[in-house]
Amino acid sequence: MNNNYDIIVIGGGHAGIEAACVAERAGAKTALITLKIDKIGEMSCNPAIGGLAKGNIVCEIDAMGGLMGQAADATGIQFRILNRSKGPAVWGYRCQSDKIQYAKFTQNFLKNLRNLHIIEAEATEILTENNKITGLKLADGSLLNAPAIVLTSGTFLNGIIHVGKEQFPAGRLGEQPSKSLSSSLKQLGLEIGRLKTGTCPRLLKNSIDYDKCTPQPGDDPPIPFSMLTKKIDRQQTPCHITETNPETHKIIRDNLDDLPLYSGQIKSTGPRYCPSIEVKIVRFKDRNKHQIYLEPESLQSEWIYCNGLATSIPKKLQEKMVHSINGLENAKIAQFGYAIEYDFIPPNQLNPDLQTKKIAGLFTAGQINGTSGYEEAAGQGLLAGINAIQYIKNKEPLVLARDLAYIGVMIDDIVTKGITEPYRMFTSRAEFRISLRADSAERRLTTIAKKLDIIDDERWSQHLKWEKQRKEFREQLKKQKYQNTSAEHWLKNPQNNFDELKENLPQNAFAPFDEKIQSQIVADIKYEGYLKKETQAAKKLHQLDSVRIPENCDFNEIPGLRRECQEKLNQIKPKTLSQASRISGITPADIMVIMINLKKSS
Ligand code: FAD
Repeated sequence: MNNNYDIIVIGGGHAGIEAACVAERAGAKTALITLKIDKIGEMSCNPAIGGLAKGNIVCEIDAMGGLMGQAADATGIQFRILNRSKGPAVWGYRCQSDKIQYAKFTQNFLKNLRNLHIIEAEATEILTENNKITGLKLADGSLLNAPAIVLTSGTFLNGIIHVGKEQFPAGRLGEQPSKSLSSSLKQLGLEIGRLKTGTCPRLLKNSIDYDKCTPQPGDDPPIPFSMLTKKIDRQQTPCHITETNPETHKIIRDNLDDLPLYSGQIKSTGPRYCPSIEVKIVRFKDRNKHQIYLEPESLQSEWIYCNGLATSIPKKLQEKMVHSINGLENAKIAQFGYAIEYDFIPPNQLNPDLQTKKIAGLFTAGQINGTSGYEEAAGQGLLAGINAIQYIKNKEPLVLARDLAYIGVMIDDIVTKGITEPYRMFTSRAEFRISLRADSAERRLTTIAKKLDIIDDERWSQHLKWEKQRKEFREQLKKQKYQNTSAEHWLKNPQNNFDELKENLPQNAFAPFDEKIQSQIVADIKYEGYLKKETQAAKKLHQLDSVRIPENCDFNEIPGLRRECQEKLNQIKPKTLSQASRISGITPADIMVIMINLKKSS
């Protein structure tokens, strides 16, 4: 066997899939090492893709040729745009996935990639020479050679599962953890931290009394994520809503001393914005109910995922808690909820291209970087894969600016600010969210992907077709007259809506244009003022972006900087003045001091 590769990807989760696919698309001879091939694309937690801000990430991945959107479209069993009552800037594209089919789809896709070698094995040691990647050692002793590695090992590094007082090593339930890789990373000089996440119990479908729950249907027609998907043809299915009640809350409160999160058994920090039910009940004392979404895991499975009920309380209490909920009085638990603690790499050890500062050629992406969520993992996987290619080709890395992509915001946040709890994407993290609408992902990113030669012909011709339509549709709005003004001008009034225009103008006026293009342009017109403001703010950001800080800059040598500020800057080693300005605790006055010193020394 020829063991020489251009890029090795460790992990077949959501980050690893995108990294492997993009590396292969770019023509790199790629190896994907994963613990179990039939677990590639597994959804460890909720059977869903997208959501607020996360949906934008999926569209961005798709716009750059990635797989997640296509896989979600092919296997989605309920599609809904969240926040639809608000403007499109904060819409969240989301689908309920058939998780069995989702994993199969990704596995089949990967197996058909010519330049990708999938190897079922445990990666145990990262091999380097002079702080540069040379290859990887597997548990059976075999060696693979490559100048770049993308590490995406998820929750598997020294994973420990907790259910009540029970504790056991695992990567996720039913899978062995990865035990050696963390030591190898430590030996390379990387600092390792510890985080926690959790999942909810799964119930048997037939044991739920759906008459007591509120059905929640999807959108009709379902709106896909991918620019390649014309229409969703799969059978769709509703979810159901129920809620906790004072009795549920009492069960938790009466037993706090026995709960791993409160007894001191779990020591690491979990996601503040996605708390377990016990944390919600303790933290929000005044609330006497929390919504629970009953989500089918697959059309082929009897399992129902209880979204909102993530927990690590003892099994007996889980049963009591579930049975206290309306509609779940007789529910049978198919799998108990659990928490998992795992090792991660605090991401302030990474450069903005997701390469570790210590080891050249070692890129990391996904849960190992302290994020949580499939979409966050996939977005980083894509960028880490792209930058591994750029690295081996000795080309400039791709860093997506904060006004260009949610993926850019996420990576900038984690590498610049570091993390103290699992990082999850929200719309509120993005200061340019009008520019980062889900429906503008292809406009923002497909040309960049084309320049990098990582986009397929189908996406590129779709992009060109839509570019043409956007221009022509805008012209048409300028030409068409309504109420003594142009349709374009009329639409600028926030009270006026496009449906009225369509009803009153000749039917063929807009017929040649895809509905998607029509709504994009109408949103552009409606948001024009905000978009201008964002563009101006982005200009300022780019001015600071263009001031590069030399790699060997010693901030201790800059007079006038506070000691605390020097320490932080030396730790993060920002690449630009703009990145420095986003480090917590760094003030505009500090930036001014650095700028003056950079000017003096240039
Ligand atoms: P994973 O999807 O975990 O994939 C890791 C891959 O690495 C696996 O294929 C594994 O086989 C492989 N691997 C690991 N070590 C090795 C090795 N040494 N050699 C070879 N292969 C290796 N996300 C949310 O958004 N919300 C939640 O509420 C949520 N709850 C979660 C609860 C639990 C219990 C778990 C386990 C995860 C939860 N997640 C949640 C997180 C979500 O599953 C992850 O964010 C996402 O799957 C991360 O993707 P990833 O690619 O980084 O890693």
